[in-house]
Amino acid sequence: MNIVVTGSSRGIGAAIAHYLANQGHSIFVTYARSEDKAKQVLEALPGDNHHMGQLDLSSADSIAKFFESVLEKWEQVDGLVNNAGLTKDQLLLRMKAEDFNDVINVNLTGQFLCIKSLTRKMMKARKGSIVNISSVVGSIGNPGQANYAASKAGLEGMTRSMAAELGSRNIRVNCIAPGFISTDMTDELSEEQKNGFIDACPLKRFGTPEDIAKSVAFLLSDDASYVTGQVLHVNGGLYMG
Ligand code: NAP
Repeated sequence: MNIVVTGSSRGIGAAIAHYLANQGHSIFVTYARSEDKAKQVLEALPGDNHHMGQLDLSSADSIAKFFESVLEKWEQVDGLVNNAGLTKDQLLLRMKAEDFNDVINVNLTGQFLCIKSLTRKMMKARKGSIVNISSVVGSIGNPGQANYAASKAGLEGMTRSMAAELGSRNIRVNCIAPGFISTDMTDELSEEQKNGFIDACPLKRFGTPEDIAKSVAFLLSDDASYVTGQVLHVNGGLYMG
């Protein structure tokens, strides 16, 4: 399969790129600012039909240009992993409308535009699998993350609508909702916050990026050919639905 993994210069996206390339898939790696890190990820992937490009989800122009470049390299895109995302945490009373909008713009509108850029191609091919990375916070909320939680809950609703719309063309759309995973994003948490999450988690540990990559690979694959419109929670039991 030809698979675009957004935000694969580091963290969960980089692990997804490695895992899928090890399964024999061709990967398009993307970065917003960390070109050097993306190059390192690309060079470490086994196989040779991989590419990389800059994709800034806050810019509709950047998204359009990026997907044009993808379709110049690949005639068909079989899978899209909408992984790129950011946080701009602040308690409600201090959160500026700008911080709210920036997070919605990248984590939700950006994902919408990425999917839209590939939908026509996938519809023509009558196949495609899209995996959106949401978060446990979209289900349980978290102080200081009103913007982030709204973006991730929105992504889950959008996933269900798109799954309903695209199912008749054999395009599946699903979400993975990670719990707390060890990456740069969670490095920002204090030791007290980290210990609090570990205490509340039945499996008593943070997840690894590879824990997420394995579930993404399942949802992309034909093993999940009857699975669409779902949110798969990968969170060590922190939230059980
Ligand atoms: P991370 O380590 O902070 O990496 C974020 C990735 O997104 C990087 O590749 C970054 O590119 C890219 N990115 C940031 N802003 C972007 C923008 N404006 N346009 C395009 N790409 C952008 O994050 P992570 O922890 O791996 O998280 C990956 C996904 O999982 C996110 O959607 C996050 O919300 C979700 N998630 C993470 C956790 C967790 O505990 N870590 C839990 C639940 C959900 P650059 O390197 O170029 O900046």
